[in-house]
Amino acid sequence: MMRSQALKTATSRKNKFSYKGNISFTELYNSNVFDDTAMRDFLSKEAYESVSNSINDGKTINRKMAEHVAAGMKRWALSKGASHYTHWFQPLTGSTAEKHDSFWEPKNGKAVEKFSAGSLVQQEPDASSLPNGGLRNTFEARGYTAWDPSSPAFIHENTTGRTLCIPTVFVSYNGEALDYKAPLLKSISLIDKAATDICKYFLKKVSSCTASLGIEQEYFLVDEALYNARPDLVMCGRTVVGHAPAKGQQMDDHYFGSIPDRVFNYMFEVEMEAAKLGIPLKTRHNEVAPGQYECAPMFEDVNLAIDHNQLLMDLMDQVAHKHHFRVLFHEKPFAGINGSGKHNNWSLITNTGVNLLSPGSDPNSNLLFLTIFINTIKALHDNADIIRASIATASNDHRLGANEAPPAIISAFIGSKLTDVLNAFLEDSTVSDKDDKKSITIGKIPEIMRDNTDRNRTSPFAFTGNKFELRAVGSSTNSAQPITALNSAVANQLIQFKKAVDEAISKGAEQKVAIIKELKSVLKSAQNILFEGNNYSEEWANEAKKRGLSNIKNTAEALSAYISKQAISTFVDNGIFTKEELHARLEVMLEDYIKKIQIEGRILADLVYTYIMPPSIEYLTSLAQNVKILKDSKLTVGKAQQDLISEISYHIDETKAKTDKMIEARRKANNETDSQKMALAYHRNVKETFDDIRYHVDKLEQLIDDRMWQLPKYRELLFIK
Ligand code: ADP
Ligand code: MG
Repeated sequence: MMRSQALKTATSRKNKFSYKGNISFTELYNSNVFDDTAMRDFLSKEAYESVSNSINDGKTINRKMAEHVAAGMKRWALSKGASHYTHWFQPLTGSTAEKHDSFWEPKNGKAVEKFSAGSLVQQEPDASSLPNGGLRNTFEARGYTAWDPSSPAFIHENTTGRTLCIPTVFVSYNGEALDYKAPLLKSISLIDKAATDICKYFLKKVSSCTASLGIEQEYFLVDEALYNARPDLVMCGRTVVGHAPAKGQQMDDHYFGSIPDRVFNYMFEVEMEAAKLGIPLKTRHNEVAPGQYECAPMFEDVNLAIDHNQLLMDLMDQVAHKHHFRVLFHEKPFAGINGSGKHNNWSLITNTGVNLLSPGSDPNSNLLFLTIFINTIKALHDNADIIRASIATASNDHRLGANEAPPAIISAFIGSKLTDVLNAFLEDSTVSDKDDKKSITIGKIPEIMRDNTDRNRTSPFAFTGNKFELRAVGSSTNSAQPITALNSAVANQLIQFKKAVDEAISKGAEQKVAIIKELKSVLKSAQNILFEGNNYSEEWANEAKKRGLSNIKNTAEALSAYISKQAISTFVDNGIFTKEELHARLEVMLEDYIKKIQIEGRILADLVYTYIMPPSIEYLTSLAQNVKILKDSKLTVGKAQQDLISEISYHIDETKAKTDKMIEARRKANNETDSQKMALAYHRNVKETFDDIRYHVDKLEQLIDDRMWQLPKYRELLFIK
């Protein structure tokens, strides 16, 4: 039997990984990246400057220079042992995509290595089967990948070969975005300009701003043999059945506990590989649930941070195979214990090194802080539904709005000190148009030490001293989507804010007075998004309803925010997405939702019929035979056996009836022609039946002889390592 074999394999693993000698992370760091040092070594001065200007100021690289860059990059890649190159991009599948071409080509009976500017700058992958939401009809199915010089090329190592990877955007023949990166890059330019314009009120020297991002990644590790014996894990990344183990996370003995040796070895190798790729992993620890862990890098500018996170996920998967683990990025692989998120720590930093979300003690610089801080809160307030939509997936539905924090209600936590500061700011009556400069007071903000800020683990958007932490993002999500939304929302708000202030100034108001007045009005209109209490509680759900905040618990409904009026103002008016692109994205996400639930439904039915029913019926039969033997031999038949028989029989009947109902509901849902309606049907009629079925299956798991049960149990999946 698969389960007993898997258990044997999993429990007899030898720990083969030991690294002799010292590993120098400083030497490994960036060794597989075409970084500044490599560029200086392999590029002419002119070509180097051209790339630097492109990275720093967004200047385009001309064809001649691109030819030089390609030549240098090729020499570097060959020196690293690369045989192939690929454009590396992030289509709307959620994973990364690559199509490799060899450097070498035959020429006159010999082989030569070739890599031209054309191959560097633009490729035309035959990617007609990647999701496009209707943006490419079949006769114009071409898609292009185009080089993103702001994210450095890198070498991807496999056991047998090495590949030069060039980060790219992926667009259609008509230039519409087919990936996550193209809109992200637009949102980065947008917020750069919007924040820089605001800075000009305060700091004349600022000429650009970057959004920074630090991504905490949660994940589970499961032994490979046990994983392979669970078709649901293999096909959906989560268990659709499984009884909770006697011991879960209630003892709080796993969080920050000592890391098991086998897991440590895995983490260590991930860190080594990450270092080579320049991913600055800093933190590792056990998470709350058994079998759950987290890693986090130092923050970087958002484009790089997101490329690095996508790369890290690939790497973690690759290294896991080597260590006979499987890494689970699903938001809720196991019912009843914590799921996984991806906290996105976000702030804005000027080219002069000022973190705009870092409050200080000087009232003057505090006004800049307050401007960014309050406008970010307002942006969240006006775009709550868009932010919610940007993280809506079938798998994240298990966290948001289910039995887990954060909830589907978008709110911001700012801590008691800043709450006081904002209240004082609003109450301060000394500021009016007639006041002269001297009488303007803005409450002194106490220097907030990072460690001093209160912790609220339940908030979806928490201010943590010098950054906002978007916690509602799912562990498997490409952060580009929520961060594009956040960048665009904040930029849009800063643009509106500046317009209002400039108008007041043009009517004769003093700048500071105009800013403070406008800030107060912005804050007042956004205040109801602030919540300091327990986001998990029933009271908050009621309170939020009173405040008129949305509480959209499922993806099928949440996604429509992508084509709302607000989406036009945030995205379309600022050139991040066209209307067509938004509709296409909505379509892709709805389809993704439908397919995921469809696959889960199929797997669940498969398991019921081929894994759950057979041993249940077999055990039932053996009990019945036993009763018959007892009766035939005129022995008394105890109540226990009779009870067991009727209990098992009941759960078998219910499991089958409910599964058949689900299959029928799926058939009906498939008949819907409109994808929004189909998604809703899948949510309401198909997905909602999963837990009913599961209830009876999990009862059977508790009743059936353990030796007969086919699927590795939770206690085995979570505790064996
Ligand atoms: P937590 O207590 O939430 O786990 P950590 O100290 O582990 O917090 O940091 C979380 C992440 O926040 C790290 O990736 C860190 O680099 C990042 N971070 C710190 N400062 C900033 C900032 N100014 N902008 C963006 N991210 C930041
Ligand atoms: Mg955190």
